[in-house]
Amino acid sequence: MSTKKRCVVVGYGGMGGWHVRHILAAGVIDLAGVYDIKAERLELARENGIYAYPSFEAVLADQTVDFITIATPNEWHKPLAIAALEAGKHVICEKPVTLSTEELDEIIAVANRTGRLFTAHQNRRWDPDYQMVRIAYKSGKLGRVTNIESRYQGSRGIPGDWRGKKEHGGGMIFDWGIHLIDQMLGIVEDLAIKRVYCHCDHITNDEVDDGFKLDLYWEGGLITRIEVGTTNFISLPRFYIAGVDGTGIVADWKDTCRLVLCRSWEDRDATPVVTAAGFTKTMAPRDEKTTYEEIIERPVVDVHNFYRNFADAIDGKATQIVTHAQLRRSMRIMEAAFASDAIGAPVDFADSPTCDRVI
Ligand code: NAD
Repeated sequence: MSTKKRCVVVGYGGMGGWHVRHILAAGVIDLAGVYDIKAERLELARENGIYAYPSFEAVLADQTVDFITIATPNEWHKPLAIAALEAGKHVICEKPVTLSTEELDEIIAVANRTGRLFTAHQNRRWDPDYQMVRIAYKSGKLGRVTNIESRYQGSRGIPGDWRGKKEHGGGMIFDWGIHLIDQMLGIVEDLAIKRVYCHCDHITNDEVDDGFKLDLYWEGGLITRIEVGTTNFISLPRFYIAGVDGTGIVADWKDTCRLVLCRSWEDRDATPVVTAAGFTKTMAPRDEKTTYEEIIERPVVDVHNFYRNFADAIDGKATQIVTHAQLRRSMRIMEAAFASDAIGAPVDFADSPTCDRVI
């Protein structure tokens, strides 16, 4: 008999299909089946040779199922997670884990009481672009880092599905912001956030944010910007990281990370350049001999380690990679972002860094 953990994917839509493929590819989990509220999605599952559970209750009643992965629209995450934990299942939930810290705390309380695992699918911890900037920050080569910018910009507007509706937990902060916030907390592990300032865009959607600019002010003076746009026909770089002794850039998510590092602060003479209104020496590029370049290559990553870790965590052989404390911290940042947008001003943020990230 197989010793693999058995999983049911709840919500067989776009991301549910991703989970089905990747659960199997991870090699340590058996797919027991899927469940979706839409009959046509269940029919599609059958056509794809996947067992389709007739109801969510049938999933919970199946004693052979170890855990479920929730891949429904966001407003369903809390009730489905709590019902599954109460039924003795472990739970992986898609991001954003919930729509508020209050909801998240309710789930964590049930997970603690039932002794079941609960985590969220922060799969973008395995993105090479993020990992390269994390390496750059931690290398110390940039000197004191003064600002980091992380962006995703598209030009196709906010998707026309549930993501455009507040009642479903739509909007770009919940959709993309959570990934970029989680990544920023993985880059800057050593500092606490002091203030949060956010502006939400409503360019094509009045109901939810269709883009945003979120600035985090950290202890010691570091400022980080997280920006998502859906009406950007030209994109700014994916990542930009600046320190006193160097600058790094990941121009596009497919690229390597290019560092330009300072060889000598003293030897910084430059030939003036002509700008619109005249000469400038301050803004002239440095003489090339005072700087040098390094490339951080794209690391080889395996996103299936998320599922492998979860299977090991069920057996008590590993600690879950995405912890409750990390989920609470990023959820509180999103709440602070909404609060800041509502008043049009920065809000204070009570924080302590969590330094237990393994990825
Ligand atoms: P989708 O609309 O493509 O699919 C959602 C599916 O859930 C639909 O088939 C729908 O019928 C079903 N559903 C709705 N309510 C349900 C319920 N109560 N019980 C069972 N099934 C139900 O949406 P999607 O793009 O797959 O997004 C689903 C979730 O995955 C969201 O939370 C989203 O934020 C997340 N997501 C994560 C990533 C990632 O990279 N981690 C990427 C995309 C989406």
